[in-house]
Amino acid sequence: MKRTTKLLTMTLAAVMAACTLTACGGSSKGDALTFGTNAEFPPFEYVTSNGAIGEYDGIDMAIAKQIAEDNGMTAAVENMEFDSLLVALQNGQIDAVIAGMTATDERRETVDFSTPYYTATQVMIVKEDSDITSAADMADKKICVIQGYTGEVCVQDMGYTYEAFKKGTEAVMELTNGKCDVVVIDSATAQKYVSDNEGLKIVEDPSAFESEEYAIAVQKGNTELLDKINKTIEKMLADGTINELAVKYTEEATAE
Ligand code: GLN
Repeated sequence: MKRTTKLLTMTLAAVMAACTLTACGGSSKGDALTFGTNAEFPPFEYVTSNGAIGEYDGIDMAIAKQIAEDNGMTAAVENMEFDSLLVALQNGQIDAVIAGMTATDERRETVDFSTPYYTATQVMIVKEDSDITSAADMADKKICVIQGYTGEVCVQDMGYTYEAFKKGTEAVMELTNGKCDVVVIDSATAQKYVSDNEGLKIVEDPSAFESEEYAIAVQKGNTELLDKINKTIEKMLADGTINELAVKYTEEATAE
């Protein structure tokens, strides 16, 4: 009997030690708020040497950090393909998605969105000597988009054929190499690519591209987390922090 108790105690101690090492049992995970992102979208999220959250920096990363801090937690990031983010959220692999993600009706069918924190629009990146001046001019051109972005949906809705790339940088390289005529992508990210690459310019067409609002996604019905996120966003909007972050990271990302 005594032997059995001792054995049990030892086994229990071993299990507990293993738990501490692997952080199972949830105790240390409970202190981390895990955000999913696709760190290919400057100035909102990109990889750098010393970011707001580990190697991840940008407007969204600073917001995510603040949300965690306001709730006595630390922010963790899972970097994945943009297309995988909502599935990972539904699976519970991540707690929230912050990825310059436009709150669209289609996405609202599967997830809930926070208060919007940024307004953007799709724009066209073209070569400086391009004759494209409006979205209609894309009709007979070779169009590049990024897979799963709202830009792809816009071009699809216009009925144009296009080629979809996994990363913005890949689409822009296609453009600079003369293999495509126009890249449709979100405004702030387009600005970054134009300042990084010689010979490109932005063409806007507000009559063809509606404005879009970026928001943070949580699992449907997770009002507890949504309330926390909204509190921080509303505070950061009201006191001008998000504006300051937008200015700061646009300059930083452009200066790199
Ligand atoms: N705003 C676009 C979308 O929601 C692109 C976002 C992104 O690439 N991170 O599809």
